[in-house]
Amino acid sequence: GASLKKVIETKQFNAFITVSKNEAEKQAEASLQRFKSKQSKSDLDGVPIAVKDNFCTKDIKTTCASKMLENFSPPYNATVCQRLLDAGAVLVGKTNLDQFAMGSGTVDSIYGPTKNVWKCKADSNDFHIAGGSSGGSAVAVASGVCFGKKYWFNSFRAIGSDTGGSTRNPASYCGVVGLKPTYGLVSRHGLIPLVNSMDVPGILARNVDDVVSILNAVAGHDKQDSTCLTKPFKKIRLPPANKMGIKGLKIGIPIEYNCEYLSDEVLDMWDEIAQTLQNEGAIVKEVSMPHTQYSIVCYSVLNQCEVASNMARYDGIEYGYRADDDHSTEKLYAVSRRTAFNDIVKNRILTGNYFLLGRNYEKYFNQALKVRRLIMNDFDNVWEDAQLLLTPTTLTEAPLYSDFIQKTNRDQCAFQDFCTQPANMAGIPAVSVPIKLSKNGLPLSLQIMGRNLSEPMLLALAKYIE
Ligand code: GLN
Repeated sequence: GASLKKVIETKQFNAFITVSKNEAEKQAEASLQRFKSKQSKSDLDGVPIAVKDNFCTKDIKTTCASKMLENFSPPYNATVCQRLLDAGAVLVGKTNLDQFAMGSGTVDSIYGPTKNVWKCKADSNDFHIAGGSSGGSAVAVASGVCFGKKYWFNSFRAIGSDTGGSTRNPASYCGVVGLKPTYGLVSRHGLIPLVNSMDVPGILARNVDDVVSILNAVAGHDKQDSTCLTKPFKKIRLPPANKMGIKGLKIGIPIEYNCEYLSDEVLDMWDEIAQTLQNEGAIVKEVSMPHTQYSIVCYSVLNQCEVASNMARYDGIEYGYRADDDHSTEKLYAVSRRTAFNDIVKNRILTGNYFLLGRNYEKYFNQALKVRRLIMNDFDNVWEDAQLLLTPTTLTEAPLYSDFIQKTNRDQCAFQDFCTQPANMAGIPAVSVPIKLSKNGLPLSLQIMGRNLSEPMLLALAKYIE
């Protein structure tokens, strides 16, 4: 009881859409009994987890922060949630996001924006954004709020999703670790789709070891997701920090990631860490990935096309919001969708359908698939020179809400995803690691990327750096 009150104290940040108080208390009590009888199920037994509200949770509202699913309670758990429950974890609640995970700020939710915990003054009108779209999950972790009974006391770990950076972006702005696993390593069953060919569940925690504990519980084949890898997953065990060496490790610095709008502070920090790693024995060298610059445009075409087809399921008939206007079936569809989607979702549906028209298909969708292939090839080639890549995660510290929502900045907002999107295009794993505070006292982070299924090496370097 007392500890759930603390969760509700995070209200000032607006991190949670739903706190599943009764269920969480039952799970916590059961975990406590297991602990007392020395029958804890795993290292996650009793650990509180916050889950982004685009993962289905049985009989618990799953809204995607949209009016369309405002009253939707799924009849089943997403595989990720089920595996966490099976490991004894306590699912405390569902976190805020941009509507249907479209965005990078957690500012476009019908429940209002999530505020960054850093420099948050409850009484001021303005605040720094949490980043997104998994901003609620990042803030749950960063708030340091603990949940637990007498025998254990733990701060939150969280589940997000990552299609173009949605886990790493808020992790970067909020100063926590955020992992986008290899595509297909973690089941997407029960994750409400945005872009099926890029979506992955993401993991957020205060340190790399905590991220690993979650990955170990959720990764591995799931017959309910046909894109899930069938190869058995070997649990990751990282060596203790003092036993780690990076001697001879080849780390690439892709020069194209030094892009327009990258802040001087982030650039300097990137340089400084690269230099430190080199001094400590790594082989750090510049590499080139010439197609990086096309990633944002290419992503936006593919995203809109997949959104156009994914959103077709929300017709107001089977589930979700249904308008009163039922003069005709067409009218019912149209009014339901017009009323329940925000402008961002509607824009993407319209643009996506335009790209998919018979006369445009070649010119846009197919062309974007070809460019995606070139971006993927850049990665295939770069692994000949580097085992891991080191880049910024976001281009700046967390922007102020008032700046972020300006129309002119909104048009450029996709730019904040510049460094994160390519990993989704290629399906490779990537992790954001907090490094230091900016002059303004906000977190700054770097990203490490590796080839498919290189999580053990990727996370080892992340742990070394953190
Ligand atoms: N910002 C990107 C978008 O709006 C990525 C979002 C995501 O990763 N879910 O599509």
